[in-house]
Amino acid sequence: MYFLQQILFLLALATAGYFITKRISIIRNTILLGRDENRYDQPEERRAMMLKIAFGQKKMFDRPIIGLLHFVIYAGFLLINVEVLEIVLDGILGTHRLFAPFLGETYAVLINFFETMAVGVLLVCMIFLVRRNITKVDRLQATRHRELNGFPVIDGNTILLSEIVLMAFLLTMNAADSVLQSRGEGHYHFVGNFFFSGLLKPLFEGWNTTALVVYERIAWWLHILGILGFAIYVTYSKHLHIFLAFPNTYFSNLKSKGEIANMPAVTQEVQIMLGLAQPSSDTPTEIARFGAKDIQDLTWKNLMDAYSCTECGRCTSQCPANLTGKVLSPRKIMMDTRDRLEEVGRNMELNKGMFVDDGKSLYGDYISAEELRACTTCNACVQECPINISPLDIILQLRRYQIMEESDAPASWNAMFSNLENNQAPWKFSPADRFNWADKLNG
Ligand code: SF4
Ligand code: SF4
Repeated sequence: MYFLQQILFLLALATAGYFITKRISIIRNTILLGRDENRYDQPEERRAMMLKIAFGQKKMFDRPIIGLLHFVIYAGFLLINVEVLEIVLDGILGTHRLFAPFLGETYAVLINFFETMAVGVLLVCMIFLVRRNITKVDRLQATRHRELNGFPVIDGNTILLSEIVLMAFLLTMNAADSVLQSRGEGHYHFVGNFFFSGLLKPLFEGWNTTALVVYERIAWWLHILGILGFAIYVTYSKHLHIFLAFPNTYFSNLKSKGEIANMPAVTQEVQIMLGLAQPSSDTPTEIARFGAKDIQDLTWKNLMDAYSCTECGRCTSQCPANLTGKVLSPRKIMMDTRDRLEEVGRNMELNKGMFVDDGKSLYGDYISAEELRACTTCNACVQECPINISPLDIILQLRRYQIMEESDAPASWNAMFSNLENNQAPWKFSPADRFNWADKLNG
């Protein structure tokens, strides 16, 4: 019987491993479609940033109550995995509570700690469900934010419900196990008293031993299959941030937020125009593309940002353009970039790893000119993001394409651009007249 369970368990593990590995490979390959960018310098600062922002959740604590609740889920997720390790080893080796004989009384202390985390996760998930669906926090409402319509709303609720179910299986499994331990049935040896699952024991005490063993096994299987299913699902969901938040913060932009990346070719052109540089043989006669039209024109970090976005909407809730009724939502910029990445990934999968032009692009098919024009480049979205994502960086690159390649700008902007080009200033006066205002000072 246990041998059959071992085989089934190994099959489940291998199936989950196959799908997770395949999915990770697709995500990695699509991220690598991005342009190169050096984010490997200053390793110590990067490590400190990752520890502070991803591991320490620093920005989450800008809103202390929500930060604390989120921390309970995060810590629970990390720590309960130690118990999952025992479950996985039990499944592979056909044992039951493998660690108990080695840990002695410490085992019960650990299980009580994990159960406390499990109860914490369960309660916080319930509070988050209420926030999403009953008290209706504005930034999480699909009726207010069109980017949340459809899968994103279902996704948020699915994960919270799954975690509640997983924790419920864990606690009831332990409760049934405790009753079997007190009866000294088979391999259910006494390993200590568990406080929280102990509160559920009255539910099981009237059951006969066979029913208890069946329930304990079913709860064990559903708990572990749920975790494996969860691990596959996460790779399709915004909850990928559980893993990607760490590399994403490590590769953060360490420069000042106000520093906008120049285009070297344009800088050189302007310097030549102002007489600050001379044309040389290095001066490119033609530039492949100004700005970004599609995901391949963005950097790999922009693409990693898109997969890391938690869809929390903190950026959108502080975006002055969004707050004043414009169509721009920085969260939508990130979600659109990820949707386009997914589309390109499917395209590559169907075409033996090569992308075949589908006539679509991020600019135009996903993100409109109107959205891009609404951005004030204030950086509020970058400041607010709990995992250092920069929607602004993507907006700027798309807007460069929009203006410089599509010449898609309002007439007033075009007049300013033309003045900049001809007069080296936004106004329509000749540079020679620039100091006319000072003439009257001498008179
Ligand atoms: S930089 Fe642009 S997108 Fe970001 S908050 Fe400011 S206006 Fe909104
Ligand atoms: S970009 Fe950052 S702040 Fe905005 S929704 Fe994504 S994770 Fe949240």
